[in-house]
Amino acid sequence: EVNRICNFNAGPAALPEPVLQELQENVLNFQNCCMSILEISHRSNDFDNVINDAVARTKRLLGIGDNYHVLFLQGGASLQFAMIPMNFLAEGRTADYINTGTWSTKAIKEAQIQKKNFNVAASSEDRNFAYIPKEFSFNPDATFVHITSNNTIKGTQWDQFPDTGDVPLIADMSSDFMCRPIDMSKFGMIYVGAQKNIGPAGVCMVIVRDDMLKLIPDGLPTMLDYRTHVEKNSMYNTPPCFAIYTVQLVLKWLEETVGGLGEMEKINRKKAELLYAAFDESDFYKGTADLDSRSMMNVTFRLPSEELEKKFIDQAAQNGLGGLKGHRSVGGCRASIYNATTVENVEKLISFMKEFENRNK
Ligand code: PMP
Repeated sequence: EVNRICNFNAGPAALPEPVLQELQENVLNFQNCCMSILEISHRSNDFDNVINDAVARTKRLLGIGDNYHVLFLQGGASLQFAMIPMNFLAEGRTADYINTGTWSTKAIKEAQIQKKNFNVAASSEDRNFAYIPKEFSFNPDATFVHITSNNTIKGTQWDQFPDTGDVPLIADMSSDFMCRPIDMSKFGMIYVGAQKNIGPAGVCMVIVRDDMLKLIPDGLPTMLDYRTHVEKNSMYNTPPCFAIYTVQLVLKWLEETVGGLGEMEKINRKKAELLYAAFDESDFYKGTADLDSRSMMNVTFRLPSEELEKKFIDQAAQNGLGGLKGHRSVGGCRASIYNATTVENVEKLISFMKEFENRNK
């Protein structure tokens, strides 16, 4: 029996245990090719099979066809903040951004640095990003509307995506990708730092619709032009093979063990309902997000004092419950309950919370 904690980290985060076991086996001898997955060439048939299978599973899980390209890029979700305006906001174009927290703000900053035209169509900054805006004024001439589907730090999530008419959405789905089925037809592009819901750090998945590629101006640096990666199946340069392999195994787990995104959503809703019910029954723990904007993935909460928060986080860790500290920019506590977090681990957290409350209130 391996000694592992219940991991509530925000990212890198918990991975499904069967995936870790399969990785472990393939670190010595990858599918009987007598080399490690860490040692094989990205130009080999073996690796081609890995990346092609990961792409095919992504398309099946999301129900998308060949008009979408699935890419594996480096530079994290953070590089996408810069690549999006660079690729899609050529001279004369404009975009709408919705600001729902730290990561949206960073995406906006990159459009600003490049002196692109854009508007902020809505923002929840007035109440420290505790909610998802309901009122927007979209520009019908915008090339895209950018949103952050789940706000990892503030603990809020879009339940229904905004209606943008014919204007495609671009979404940073880093912290809730594949937590539920979505209607992909609204999206011109989504991007995802893998290290929360679908894999380890080191790879960013980008799913871009074919028509978006026509917006790209010539003259961009080769590595920063999406067309390079579409044409070369994410292998223009050496890709992060091990990270992509891990993503492939997580997707296989989602498809074959969980049974797809509909099943995943049921499990995720159950975990979130259990955990939020635990605060709603108590006046010791207080959620920080508005009720109608609560995230299924990152559950942010406060205790009556910072001193108690510190004690809570320390004692939880001593009891095998790790990663409960809120982001350093907001303090408090946060339990990240991504796809790989089991209902059982959430139940363990809830029983610790009850016990801690009884001892400290
Ligand atoms: N967007 C969101 C919603 C995130 O949570 C994060 C990481 N915490 C990022 C972007 C940045 O991702 P990366 O570190 O992969 O650049």
